[in-house]
Amino acid sequence: MSDNQLRLVWIYPDLLSTYGDQGNALVVERRARQRGLDVARLDVRSDQPIPTSGDIYLIGGGEDRPQRLAAERLRRDGHLHRAVENGAIVFSVCAGYQILGHEFINDLGQREPGLGLLDVVSVRGEGERCVGDVLADIDPQLGLPQLTGFENHQGVTHLGPTARPLARVQIGKGNGTGDGTEGAYNGTVFGTYMHGPVLARNPQIADLLLKLALDVNALPPIDDRWYEALRNERIEAAQQPA
Ligand code: GLN
Repeated sequence: MSDNQLRLVWIYPDLLSTYGDQGNALVVERRARQRGLDVARLDVRSDQPIPTSGDIYLIGGGEDRPQRLAAERLRRDGHLHRAVENGAIVFSVCAGYQILGHEFINDLGQREPGLGLLDVVSVRGEGERCVGDVLADIDPQLGLPQLTGFENHQGVTHLGPTARPLARVQIGKGNGTGDGTEGAYNGTVFGTYMHGPVLARNPQIADLLLKLALDVNALPPIDDRWYEALRNERIEAAQQPA
């Protein structure tokens, strides 16, 4: 971070922003401002170049066709790679998560190359679409409370040797491989199947992104009663029998 300004980049809101994923940008922005940070938020449409000077990049979920278009444009653009090489943080959801991997199956049923920023490969699940509430225990190395989210995807994601599972599901399908893993991360690049928006349900992850961006171990606490109420409501809902 330079000039004491946090640069937050929301990638392709015109293609990738299902299930309120825009909320992730709002939550990071607000929690940064509550800590007195100056935030420059840049919403980059798919016909615009991705800036390389961002601190935190957010990518949301999307339907199959917009997902292919977004992958094509991000590959052609090439700047997200450069940003990650410079130490940027990337947090991606669902279609965005699949795009960050090596490849996924596109809307035409073909193998579509991703960006290779995460060591994961997504295929089309043979079973039912994974839809519903998710409760997951985050990787103990990250030391954060349980995660709550909502998933809706057909893709199934296999982790390669250098990707760590972000979490393990208690309820829900997560990566959909049957091994109980949910999402993946590697260094400063994160992916999850959880919408919600996931950072409104889990502000602890928004704070993790901020801590990485600021290179600090702790942030001043803020009043999280509203978030706690939302979290408890969603955790209870997930635990209700279907
Ligand atoms: N199209 C992808 C799938 O179904 C991602 C869906 C999403 O982002 N919700 O797997």
